[in-house]
Amino acid sequence: MAYAIPLWTPPALPVAGSAEQFPVRRIFCVGRNYAEHQKEMGGDGRETPFFFLKSEFALIVRGGEVHYPAKTSNYHYETELVVALHKGGRRIDVKRANDHIFGYAVGLDMTRRDLQQWGKDHGRPWDFGKNFDESAPCSELHPASKIGHPSKGAIWLQVNGKQRQRADLGDMIWSVPEQIAFLSEHYTLEPGDIIFTGTPAGVGPVKPGDELLAGIDGVTELKVKISPAL
Ligand code: MN
Repeated sequence: MAYAIPLWTPPALPVAGSAEQFPVRRIFCVGRNYAEHQKEMGGDGRETPFFFLKSEFALIVRGGEVHYPAKTSNYHYETELVVALHKGGRRIDVKRANDHIFGYAVGLDMTRRDLQQWGKDHGRPWDFGKNFDESAPCSELHPASKIGHPSKGAIWLQVNGKQRQRADLGDMIWSVPEQIAFLSEHYTLEPGDIIFTGTPAGVGPVKPGDELLAGIDGVTELKVKISPAL
């Protein structure tokens, strides 16, 4: 196959304890999936879940330096459990959904909150608020064959050593299998798709120089340093 411009390498997440990489196809993200965060964002109750997507090229593998993005003055962190699928399908039964999961990671759904709010206020898409360069720092993947399927355990974030988010995976409004089942009603899911499964309360702004340490007990940790804008 001859390409008109050089072909790029597909974005991929390293697999912990292995030399293998997990190629990433699409990034689905669920909104408002922890009750306390739903409240802080102005929602109430167990409404139908909603999703948005980020480009797989927004991944920052294993964290590290993340540049303060353009066109925002309210740049937020959102710590999330990330689920990677090795098996696709449509209309997946919630009881079989875990069979589709390759492994888990810790991710940050970085958000230009002011641009997201502008979209909400004007009935416009969220892409500029959510799907931008370097907006998806993510740890290596830990296979379910090694760590099982975590449905409980602390999910937390420290900024410059101070705790900003802390909740339990059990506080999710829509569980991971329910999210997979719901998504597969709307999309044909494919191997390589990953899901950011929502963030706990305590979201807030960061600035250049800030150091973020995100973790999920039983999965792993992710370190990010915010560097000046490009
Ligand atoms: Mn999020």
